[in-house]
Amino acid sequence: MRLFWCVLTLALLLAGSASAADGLRIAAFRCDATPPFGEPMVWDVPLERIETPLLAKGIVLEDNGTRYVLVSFDWCIIGNESELAFRELLARAAKTDPTHVAVQTIHQHDAPYADAGAWRLLEKAPNPRPHLSAKFMSDLNRRLTRAVEQAVRYLEPFDSVGCGEAKVERVASERRLKGPDGKIAVTRGSEGAKNPKHAEMPEGDIDAMVKTISFARGEKVLVRLHYYATHPQTVSCTGGATADFVGMARETLEQDEEVIQIYFTGCSGNVTTGKYNDTTPEARNGLAERLRDGMMAAISATRFTPAKRLVWRTESVLLPIRKDAEFAEQSRGWLNDPKAAPGLRIYRGAMRLASIDRANRPFALTSLQIGNVHIVNLPGEPMLEFQKFAQHCKPKAFVAVAGYGDGGSAYICTDAAFQEGGYEPSASNLAPGGEQVVKTAIRRLLGE
Ligand SMILES: [Zn+2]
Repeated sequence: MRLFWCVLTLALLLAGSASAADGLRIAAFRCDATPPFGEPMVWDVPLERIETPLLAKGIVLEDNGTRYVLVSFDWCIIGNESELAFRELLARAAKTDPTHVAVQTIHQHDAPYADAGAWRLLEKAPNPRPHLSAKFMSDLNRRLTRAVEQAVRYLEPFDSVGCGEAKVERVASERRLKGPDGKIAVTRGSEGAKNPKHAEMPEGDIDAMVKTISFARGEKVLVRLHYYATHPQTVSCTGGATADFVGMARETLEQDEEVIQIYFTGCSGNVTTGKYNDTTPEARNGLAERLRDGMMAAISATRFTPAKRLVWRTESVLLPIRKDAEFAEQSRGWLNDPKAAPGLRIYRGAMRLASIDRANRPFALTSLQIGNVHIVNLPGEPMLEFQKFAQHCKPKAFVAVAGYGDGGSAYICTDAAFQEGGYEPSASNLAPGGEQVVKTAIRRLLGE
């Protein structure tokens, strides 16, 4: 792998003289974002083994000197001020503005979470739970800065963008299975297939297509971005570090094709691998193979069109973060209860309070348009309905949606989901009404 990246760098060095669309350039970067042993992973399990390194993989795009950055971390959640801090850091390294940077996570669960405001609250709580160390964060920031500065030095022209999609067989399945009364009867979590009855239930509402966007100069493909909607974890909180089956699919494809592959998790708030995952290594390998097959089919289906210019849109959006006394009090109770489970203390305690504390600081929703290709970058854990809405807004365009940007919102649910009940609305930091706010932003991000 190291050799591939060295060869790639050399190829980029030699690429300067190629003809390309006016001023369009691209560079990829990759940075190891695995914490050292002993650092807490979701939620406070010390890291004791590395199954796969956790990477931050991204691209810097340039159009006539203006730069944009897309990055996908093999982390669980990056929220609130940590999300802003990463955007600021990447912007400095790429010499652009933080509003031109989109930071997403793939959201697997043997991985760290980052929320510096929540960490400060945890430090003050009784029997405080550990969080990622300042030493690791500053080491990572240095590595990430170096990776992006290096990439920018080797920006190379591109002249076409390809898009292709293909069905992924037997990976995603709906988490919210309704009873005859329309209420949620079964929550089929990521490990759903441990219960044979849940494995037998239908896939339900999913988006089975993996969407792949490729950047090329002439015949040479430079980078591919893949978008697929499902929670990507086959296991959770085991003390290992793994980019899970989506990372396995991505990295084997990268090795085979010798083209940089970056994976983004779509709107998967209510989508998991539950129907197909019983947590065995066989199940994980099968999911990785079938996702990789889908990615390869999307690559085969790819058609290129000339790239002319980039259009980047930013929507600064005030999401309706719950601030009511009941919500805040309950969150404080969980944070300060030394006997409460780490997930409650951290996710429903400290992180919720950090979201309340951000007060009226808006969320940055962004999009990138290149001709008929649109990439929409959303915060939190949006339900699948938001991805389908974006695609429905532009039926003739190729619309790829990434979720898992700023985690401060937690789940982003439809208003109907609050009526139906189930897990997701209970794990949201937003009040009902968020649906319209996000949909209005999506429309604008698509240039409507
Ligand atoms: Zn989730």
